[in-house]
Amino acid sequence: MAKTYLIRKTPSGGVSIIVKLKKGNIPRCAICGRKLQGLPALHPSKYRRLNLSQKRVSRKYGGYLCHKCLENLLKEKVREKIKILNSNQ
Ligand SMILES: [Zn+2]
Repeated sequence: MAKTYLIRKTPSGGVSIIVKLKKGNIPRCAICGRKLQGLPALHPSKYRRLNLSQKRVSRKYGGYLCHKCLENLLKEKVREKIKILNSNQ
């Protein structure tokens, strides 16, 4: 169940029900599955209300890939471009 209900007595003698949402999971890298750093673990309904800057890291593919996978991806792309340039000469 996504919600937990807490029954609390108020100072006036009444009873109130507190609804608590479960914490969500930390977003993970799309390639290696490592937990992404700098992002909060919130319930999806709360995650939607965040600003864009709070849902991502200020980097290319921030909030989608981890730093290590992005580094490997960029290196591969540069190597491919160098190969193409060398083959044309
Ligand atoms: Zn990764």
